[in-house]
Amino acid sequence: MHIGVPAEARANETRVAATPETVKKYVAQGHRVTVQQGAGVAASFTDEAFAAAGAELVDAAAAFSADLVLKVQSPTEAELPLMKRGAVLVGVLDPFNAENTAQLAAAGVTAFALEAAPRTTRAQSLDVLSSQANIAGYKAVLVAAERYPRFLPMLMTAAGTVKAARVLVLGAGVAGLQAIATAKRLGAVIEASDVRPAVKEQIESLGAKFIDVPYETQEEREAAEGVGGYARPMPPSWLARQSVAVHERAKQADIVISTALIPGRAAPTLISVETVRAMRPGSVIVDLAAGRGAEFEGRRGGNCPLTEADQVVTRHGVTIVGFTNLAAMVAADASSLYARNLLDFLKLIVTKEGTLNIDLADDIVAATLLARDGEVTRKA
Ligand code: NAD
Repeated sequence: MHIGVPAEARANETRVAATPETVKKYVAQGHRVTVQQGAGVAASFTDEAFAAAGAELVDAAAAFSADLVLKVQSPTEAELPLMKRGAVLVGVLDPFNAENTAQLAAAGVTAFALEAAPRTTRAQSLDVLSSQANIAGYKAVLVAAERYPRFLPMLMTAAGTVKAARVLVLGAGVAGLQAIATAKRLGAVIEASDVRPAVKEQIESLGAKFIDVPYETQEEREAAEGVGGYARPMPPSWLARQSVAVHERAKQADIVISTALIPGRAAPTLISVETVRAMRPGSVIVDLAAGRGAEFEGRRGGNCPLTEADQVVTRHGVTIVGFTNLAAMVAADASSLYARNLLDFLKLIVTKEGTLNIDLADDIVAATLLARDGEVTRKA
């Protein structure tokens, strides 16, 4: 089979969907692999390394003309017509974006959105949300540390003692837990909040304090259990109590890393404008939900309404970082892990003989299939 790896054309995307390591494996499996010239450069993978792994270096049109196209993000409107009808596209294709899915279907592409895979043990090795959120959580702390005008660790020096920074992590899923672990390594004192009771133990095992907002009704308890490992929107009664707790903790915090998401919905507002006003000057918020929150002043914020997607702004003395693609800021490792996720996913849809086999009885294949034969197969 011809596998194509185009360069990523979208803004701030530095990752690439295959690495010399995975190309070598595809070639060993008998596939012909074409990689667009320069596709890996921003992730530190040279054309020479791809060629040494057995890839042919080609232009965009040739890479997109493959039977199977591996991408990070969806092709742009200009790129999509370069694909053959009936060809397979695998990537992070944003299954909640109905317009994009409709375009993929209209192009006759068989499209798989990897982020729609179930959070099951079998799907772990191809779980792109986990592999990339892990990196984003790590980078979020480094970005915060860089913008924060003080030390993170406690330091005792001849010139006096410096207090450890207080870090507040909101949302302790994959990104939040890695943010806790990273902040801990840098010597910060950490508190964290999540809706799901299962994470209390995980937060504490990483050496952070869990902010307990007890459930008072059966409705709150049930909502908190989530579905399929994901959070569900919490009842307003619980959110109001959480908001009071977050406000109090944020006033004491030096850095807030917020990662709270609810699949298919606007990210919850956890850091209100009032809370930002109450925070200390020089403190930093890194909002991983940037651009995915509720509408505020004509644009979408994140977990904080004042967050601006892909911008760093200062509001009421607080630096608010809204980078939407933190994983791409660690491009080499993000690409390596992502490329391995793809390698594992392809085992489900390509036989050992190198032919395509889309088995809808497989829950991962069925969940990720977005479009096929001109039809949208997965509703947003
Ligand atoms: P996510 O990115 O969808 O959300 C991030 C976090 O925000 C979640 O922990 C969520 O509970 C939290 N959140 C939502 N609303 C909130 C609020 N109001 N206040 C505070 N926090 C809020 O989640 P994710 O990181 O993708 O992980 C979701 C879960 O799936 C985790 O428990 C993870 O361990 C699990 N998981 C399981 C597998 C597997 O079994 N294969 C793989 C990956 C992840």
